[in-house]
Amino acid sequence: MAETEQQPKAAYNTLEGAVRPLVRPHLHAIRPYVPGRPIADVQREFGFASVIKLASNENPLGPSPRAREAARAVLDEAHRYPDGAAQDLRAALSRRYGLPEDHFVASNGSDEMIKMLSETFLDPGDEVVMPFPSFVQYAFGAQVMNAHLVRVPLREDFTYDFDRILAAVNERTKLVYLCSPNNPTGTWFTHAQARDFLDRLPDRAIIVLDEAYVEYVDAPDPLRALEFIRAGRPVLSLRTFSKIYGLAGLRIGYAVGAPDAVRYIHQVREPFNANAVAQAAAAAALFDEDHVRRSRAANRAGREQFGAGLRALGIPFIETQGNFVLAKVGDGQAAFEALLRRGVIVRAGFAGLDEYVRISIGLPEENEVCLAGLAEFMRSRGQSARTARLICDGT
Ligand SMILES: *Cc1c(COP(=O)(O)O)cnc(C)c1O
Repeated sequence: MAETEQQPKAAYNTLEGAVRPLVRPHLHAIRPYVPGRPIADVQREFGFASVIKLASNENPLGPSPRAREAARAVLDEAHRYPDGAAQDLRAALSRRYGLPEDHFVASNGSDEMIKMLSETFLDPGDEVVMPFPSFVQYAFGAQVMNAHLVRVPLREDFTYDFDRILAAVNERTKLVYLCSPNNPTGTWFTHAQARDFLDRLPDRAIIVLDEAYVEYVDAPDPLRALEFIRAGRPVLSLRTFSKIYGLAGLRIGYAVGAPDAVRYIHQVREPFNANAVAQAAAAAALFDEDHVRRSRAANRAGREQFGAGLRALGIPFIETQGNFVLAKVGDGQAAFEALLRRGVIVRAGFAGLDEYVRISIGLPEENEVCLAGLAEFMRSRGQSARTARLICDGT
């Protein structure tokens, strides 16, 4: 430290009183995002040599080999700024999906895209309609812009209630988020259902169709947002390389939409928002059909493994088309902690889903360890319930 540099005044530690009045008031209402616990974090706390992370819907097979190779090649150019417009990636997307390049805009993950959409379209008091429970970042984007968030509950079976969503749209609505398969429930809607919804909707809000998990869908008539975009509907598709493409750590996603809409999103984009390594890896991953096929097959097998395993344990679960499953374990937080003690990280604590944990589908042996942990958890719960009954009966 330079001699002339002064020690921080004690007041630096107690700025809260001075800072708070300067902060935009609506930010106080935002609850911080709680991510899946990082592996290293859990290793430190429990001293495990290895930890199974089934918490963030990542691809257990890892990144596409072609993406790895492309990423490595770009590292030697790491001293250069990336192409801010992501032209190579957008050209690759254009080739892959048969839409002109001006229909695509890349982002530092879908999370950033949701923030960019919010900055592009939302003024204070504007309304955002989202299903609930669904992806919390939609709410975050609205809250940061001080827009008004309208949460429309899912039906009891966690499917979308399109009538209620429609009823929530009014002249102040700017964005309507729909996610299929829906995170964290795994439920989905069909393309026909989405078309019917769009047909009934007055053409003034932008419908954001989040297709983060769309590659995993086996059910008939999956959502195909690009068809709506080709047909000139007011639709933006959100896509990510974090899930089936296995590039969550690189942070890369994109939106697809009419050039009129995409142009304005570019307006709020930081000059170098998506990094060079991510752009190159994503462009390569897009054409690694073998990796996508293997990932989809592994996920399908894992879904069946969890289906059979949970059924055998008598744990109800929501039928899923994603790479995760929502299981009704009774006490989500207790199950989360019990699994954590066995070195398995899952997710609990979703608003309105206290009885559930969300489990990302992993490799067969990882799923097995998770199911064994759940079996033990259910046994101990049964035991404590019986003990409680005995104590009650005895008094
Ligand atoms: C994981 C996920 C995304 C992708 O987020 P990234 O920021 O691209 O990693 C987008 N939408 C939903 C619903 C998700 O679950």
